[in-house]
Amino acid sequence: MRATEGRAGLVLLSPLSGWSTPLDEVPDPVFAGRMLGDGLALDPTGTTLHAPCDGEIIALPESRHAVTLRSDSGAEILMHVGIDTVALGGAGFEAHVQQGQRVAAGERLITFDLDLIARRAKSLLTPILLMEGCGFAVVRSIESRELAVGDVLMEIAPVGEAGGRGGIAGPGEAREEGGESEIRRVTVALEHGIHARPAAQIAGALKLLTGEVRLAARGRSANARSTVALMKMGVHKGDEVEIRAGGRDAATAVNAVAALLTEVHGSDARPALIPPPGTAAQTAPAEVRAGSELAGVVASRGLAVGQAVPLAVHEIAVVQTGAGIEHETLQLERARSQVAARLQAARGAGRSTAQEIVEAHLALLEDPELTDSALALIARGDSAAYAWRGAIGDSIEALRALDDPRMAERVDDLRDLGRQVLLVLTGEAGAAPQVLPPEAILLAQELLPSQLVSLDASRLAGICLVAGGATSHVAILAAAMGIPALVALGTGVQRIHAGTPLLLDAEAGLLHVDPGADRLAAARRQLEIRAARLTAEREAAREDCYTADGRRIEVFANIGSLAEAQAAARNGAEGCGLLRTEFLFLERETPPSEAEQRAQYQLLAEALAGKPLTVRTLDIGGDKPIPYLPMPAEENPALGLRGVRTSLWRPDLLREQLRAILGVRPYDQCRILLPMITDAAEIRAVRVMVEEARAAIGRPEPIEVGVMIETPASALMAESIAVEADFFSVGTNDLTQYTLAMDRGHSELAARLDALHPAVLRLIARTAEAAQARKRMVAVCGGLASDPVAAPILIGLGVHELSAVPSVIPRLKALIRKLTMADCTDIARQALEQSSAEAVRELAARLAARQSEREPV
Ligand code: PEP
Ligand code: MG
Repeated sequence: MRATEGRAGLVLLSPLSGWSTPLDEVPDPVFAGRMLGDGLALDPTGTTLHAPCDGEIIALPESRHAVTLRSDSGAEILMHVGIDTVALGGAGFEAHVQQGQRVAAGERLITFDLDLIARRAKSLLTPILLMEGCGFAVVRSIESRELAVGDVLMEIAPVGEAGGRGGIAGPGEAREEGGESEIRRVTVALEHGIHARPAAQIAGALKLLTGEVRLAARGRSANARSTVALMKMGVHKGDEVEIRAGGRDAATAVNAVAALLTEVHGSDARPALIPPPGTAAQTAPAEVRAGSELAGVVASRGLAVGQAVPLAVHEIAVVQTGAGIEHETLQLERARSQVAARLQAARGAGRSTAQEIVEAHLALLEDPELTDSALALIARGDSAAYAWRGAIGDSIEALRALDDPRMAERVDDLRDLGRQVLLVLTGEAGAAPQVLPPEAILLAQELLPSQLVSLDASRLAGICLVAGGATSHVAILAAAMGIPALVALGTGVQRIHAGTPLLLDAEAGLLHVDPGADRLAAARRQLEIRAARLTAEREAAREDCYTADGRRIEVFANIGSLAEAQAAARNGAEGCGLLRTEFLFLERETPPSEAEQRAQYQLLAEALAGKPLTVRTLDIGGDKPIPYLPMPAEENPALGLRGVRTSLWRPDLLREQLRAILGVRPYDQCRILLPMITDAAEIRAVRVMVEEARAAIGRPEPIEVGVMIETPASALMAESIAVEADFFSVGTNDLTQYTLAMDRGHSELAARLDALHPAVLRLIARTAEAAQARKRMVAVCGGLASDPVAAPILIGLGVHELSAVPSVIPRLKALIRKLTMADCTDIARQALEQSSAEAVRELAARLAARQSEREPV
């Protein structure tokens, strides 16, 4: 589609692929408060900014992080890639145009490094603004949608013949009035010169003042009311600027502008621990209408009906000046001990998700650097609360500066722990938690794990968050608690009144606001049916699983902790098809000893009450730094020392692990699974070590040794591998990544990384044929085994065992019991002939629909 310009206005095309988001969500009051202009923001998935219409580039700073375009009809459009990206000084940005150049709609303007910006900037949200005062207004904008480059983004139209400026002076004009004129020269102290934010602040400060105000520097002069003109001057830190104002308010104007130019931004600023009121949240306009729906991202699947309950939040007020070093040090110590005692009490036994979060908070609380840095601030005269907040803020900044996206979780932990200690320090910790009415659907800007666990879960039906990610700690916790949750719903959430009836569909990703009595009643019926079905399925899951025509299919569980082993037993797992032993090895300074490992494996074996336990040897590589396993730096860790390669590179670790597994009683409960196998020689090498370990501990019984089929090489070599291996377990997560050459953690490729791709299915089919020829058992333990839609295809391909996440086991068993082998082999044969994963999914969905017709509800 082309940008069209006519009497009715101008259509702006999306300059970037991404998710369109209301400006209110931009974490910067200048943008969220529309000080620069109206528009929306894009959460980019693409990396190139294109022209949204024909026009001329009127501003392009040296830092190349933003660009302003003037359309032929005079509309000025600012595109600002990310927030606080001026600080990158151009790193990660490449401009394809120059200031003054004409461009056509769709032409490339700037290319940027999405990863670098994600790591180093405050936010990736990219505001696309119609500049304040340019004489155009936004008529319609396409919000909360996935947009591709060139899709319609906004319609804009001129506001009246006078360019819409009404009685307010626009950038090109000045209010000439009598009075003195004022001139002042100042040296710019702004870290990044006059970029978008200070320009908006200067223009904003002058709004209520009369008279002309101009700035001059670098041989250029600009109307100080025009943000574009100010940005175009290209003023840097240290430049001398002349401020010249006329009219009645001249002195006030000069003072205001001088103050803004000489203010030191950034260096003293600490990230606010709790978002300050008065920013995005408070700019939210009118309430959300009954019958409307908000789209979000599913963080915890499920359906809920209930009433809106906004989370009660308040800013924790903190005074800066302390009452003496000794007093404040003692206060901090007391607060830390109080929080530590509470966390220790909540720690309990086992390793559930909540307990792991508590452990993370305890570890941070005991972090000497954090405490030392708070004490240093107290020694400077700060109060304990101010110092603690400062120390937490500094640590957050330091973590954000690391080039490691996994640190996002640590930042959340720090913020949460910071808040808990602050509440004690300010005497607010004892305050009663928010009382929830029954069937509460909680609405919040964000939610920290400690806030979630303080609420009465029996009254909490669902969670809706303005922001947040689907893999955050709070999302994982909500899923573990079985509470449906949607995140990234946008600021509409804040416009829903308390008590409004809500239908939360955390399956389709929609929040229905006051959807009417009929829909609510239908959803309640659906919930009752599901509850009854779940009870029946859980009950039936205790029995072994057979297809309708009597083929035995084992349904096992993947586990990575004792809590998961217990969940597996509760959900009717017939064994464990994959124990990821990494949990024992990560986040510690020394490797677990043989005795510690054996004790842990023994506990897990007992939790499974004698059912088979498949222990995978350590699957670790250069992507997960381990202090006691320093690895050579690798260009591409996914293709480097991983899985069995690491174990053979460090045989000392493998020997200890093998002895620990071999020591578990009863001897026939465990079997060994080797990750990342590519050929038979690797198995032979490990088998030699297994035999040595067996002799070392004096175990007479042999043990089964199976292999993960998760490299295309192992699938293609399955015949020769079957000679050495006792069983196969297909790891579809890695098999898909390596077959499709798509990184399994790549967010842009996530939708295409589908294990039902026919190429992956053909490798599984080949594996199953080779196994059958040697009478070996084939399991699937990758994510595909937990996808009920895939079960008939996998069974039809010849898979005997599915090892799934514990919670889906009852559903999976119920489904398999309705299948016949004829259904399965038929769909598997067709699936292999398809040309895409989508086509396979359609095929599987048709079978699932036929089955649900047969299903009694
Ligand atoms: C797999 O790759 O499918 C698998 C089960 O292993 P992991 O997800 O632990 O790499
Ligand atoms: Mg794997």
